[in-house]
Amino acid sequence: MIAEKMKGMVANSSAIRAMFEEGNRLAEIYGAENVFDFSLGNPNVPAPEAVKKAIIELVSESDPIVLHGYTNSNSGYADVRETIANSLNERFGTSFEGKNIIMTVGAAGGLNVILKTLLNPRDEVIAFAPYFGEYRSYTNNFDGVLVEISPDKETFQPKLDEFEQKITAKTKAVIVNTPNNPTGVVYSEDTIKKMAAIMEAKQKEFGTEIYLISDEPYRELAYDGVEVPYLTKYYDNTIVGYSYSKSLSLPGERIGYLVIPDEVTDSETVLSAANVANRILGFVNAPTLQQKVVAKCINEKTDLSFYDRNRETLYNGLLECGFECIKPQGAFYLFVKSPIADEKEFCSIAKKYNLLLVPGSSFACSGYVRLAYCVSYETIVNSLPKFKELAKEMKC
Ligand code: PLP
Repeated sequence: MIAEKMKGMVANSSAIRAMFEEGNRLAEIYGAENVFDFSLGNPNVPAPEAVKKAIIELVSESDPIVLHGYTNSNSGYADVRETIANSLNERFGTSFEGKNIIMTVGAAGGLNVILKTLLNPRDEVIAFAPYFGEYRSYTNNFDGVLVEISPDKETFQPKLDEFEQKITAKTKAVIVNTPNNPTGVVYSEDTIKKMAAIMEAKQKEFGTEIYLISDEPYRELAYDGVEVPYLTKYYDNTIVGYSYSKSLSLPGERIGYLVIPDEVTDSETVLSAANVANRILGFVNAPTLQQKVVAKCINEKTDLSFYDRNRETLYNGLLECGFECIKPQGAFYLFVKSPIADEKEFCSIAKKYNLLLVPGSSFACSGYVRLAYCVSYETIVNSLPKFKELAKEMKC
């Protein structure tokens, strides 16, 4: 007796989580050390020690009525928002104030807040394949229509000619995710400038507002000194969604924020609508304790060298086996070309070797599989002989 709309959502329910559950099942049979689960983007680096210290300090020294109480404003604590705005200004030369920041329940919460704020039924949201599959569900939550730009399988940079063609008078938002899940690609400054020029021109042509939503849970995970452009500097109608899930290894704590700059058209109206959406979506705002934790840990970083070592070892190991893959510049994923056209079949074959991979079709890009390398180094090293056997079977 469930809603029609939910039936579709259940049918398409996440293959990633299904694979993760399969991993747990296999671990019970074969022992966890013999299962190589590359399915889920759950960080294997512990949160910095400073996070633990901050929690202990806050719990020991704060008034529990406040600390465990409802946040005093839907958008979060003023001092926390100011701390974040100042930190962004220092890092990126922006000029945000606390009022431009809305604390959210992770990036997922932030995306739902902004899509609820912006979308009318049948409004279009553009995403570049391959993309985080939940964008489709989040858009559908508000009766929007996700419009897909097909992948450029050479570079995995956005296909700008197709982008330009697919923007219509109904286009309300464009979501970009760089560093990208699932490819690890970082969009170059040149790409961003070209995207911005296209969107400016289309806003003028249609007399509409087109919002660029930059989904940035992997901003801090960039290797080899690669620059990740801060998008508000290139296009006025840019809204940033950030998360501490990966940058401080806090995915279970559900904490992130939105940035809605003054340059956004009618920014005060957008800010006040997003403030209300944050409450009425049912999360009832970002958790108080975690807001205060991230403010105390504003300059803390995850151990990037851990992921970098995994990246190099797995990437080089897979190439040696004969697999094809673009070298990721960021995030903690490898997007590997399936040796057979049906990548779901390839995932099933890999499972015989206790290698758990996610089919690219979960990211609107069939013919590829995603490996999340946010696992222990031992898992990477011990998986390589299995990949070798798999490559042999696949005649790579
Ligand atoms: N966006 C992308 C691209 C992601 O990969 C994820 C999580 O993996 C999210 C959003 C959701 O992140 P959060 O845990 O902050 O809600």
